Amino acid sequence: MTAVDPQELAQQFASDNYAGICPEAWQSMEAANRGHATSYGDDPWTTRAADVFRDLFETDCDVYFVFNGTAANSLALASLCQSYHSVICCDASHVETDECGAPEFFSNGSKLLVAPSSDSKLTPQSIHELATKRQDIHYPKPRAVTITQATEMGRVYSLDELHAVADACSAHQLLLHMDGARFANAVASLGCTPAEMSWKSGVDVLCFGGTKNGMAAGEAVLFFDRVLAEGFDYRCKQAGQLASKMRYLSAPWVGMLESGAWLRNAEHGNRCARILQAQIESLPGVRLVQPVEANSVFLEANQAILDALRARGWHFYTFIGGAARFMFAWDTDLRQIDAFFRDLKECAAQALLT
Ligand SMILES: *Cc1c(COP(=O)(O)O)cnc(C)c1O
Repeated sequence: MTAVDPQELAQQFASDNYAGICPEAWQSMEAANRGHATSYGDDPWTTRAADVFRDLFETDCDVYFVFNGTAANSLALASLCQSYHSVICCDASHVETDECGAPEFFSNGSKLLVAPSSDSKLTPQSIHELATKRQDIHYPKPRAVTITQATEMGRVYSLDELHAVADACSAHQLLLHMDGARFANAVASLGCTPAEMSWKSGVDVLCFGGTKNGMAAGEAVLFFDRVLAEGFDYRCKQAGQLASKMRYLSAPWVGMLESGAWLRNAEHGNRCARILQAQIESLPGVRLVQPVEANSVFLEANQAILDALRARGWHFYTFIGGAARFMFAWDTDLRQIDAFFRDLKECAAQALLT
């Protein structure tokens, strides 16, 4: 085997999906790898994983396992809509900005109605405005609302905010979908139960992210109203999302949920973001763009600082809200945060001099 460049192994904070697989997920994969099992989800791991979800959420929901978040969101929304329907979302939402039109594609044309927002949260007011903008037959009929928890900018809807969103949905007879690619980080942030943050707050369908939480791949789609899940198995199969060796998508959830790793991993990521936030608050030339509520830090700094950071080998994205984003995963090493902060401080000081 050729050696891997050690440079490749240094931790980066560009995304929480740079991290590997956490031990709890890995051990379950290993356990699932002993011998044969029935295919296409008809196996004990998949049954157990769905049961563990029902326990965790304290309700009798329908659970499906798909490969990634784009599929989870798109197929979930498609199952709520006819092709002539529309889905209300925020302008920063992953479904709008990062899924290459998959929600529209898998729903055969359901249109996303996009609300402007400065903090990546959808407000009851914007739901009301978009739901009542047009009522005639020439406009796609609003059918669902999708919100992201935690949001793409690392914000977290409080339970009160969730209830207000749900009330706006009921007022207009809209179904509520939650993109929970970082659901665990939001639960860790609020300290509430998964039930409180989902069906008890009026969420009809939740996509619960496993990948960024420490798994190799996979998201769970939870239907709290079973009627809405009708045909979802066929929809997954048609979309290429029915894993034939399903146990490798489902077993890691057993390890993650039964051991509590899902929450510990999220708590660690959130804590790392707060550590960097505290370091940065007093740094001249650098500004926090959003309050830190989950596992991300968004920085505004001049181009010279960002260029200098990149020149020192740091990876980060600036296409979300125009700010530099730093994300913390389950395995973030606190020493690497310090190393990053030292570089940031030097780059900022250098930029102030020139
Ligand atoms: C990462 C992410 C997803 C899932 O993306 P995939 O790359 O398709 O797995 C969905 N929603 C949000 C908010 C995300 O950050």
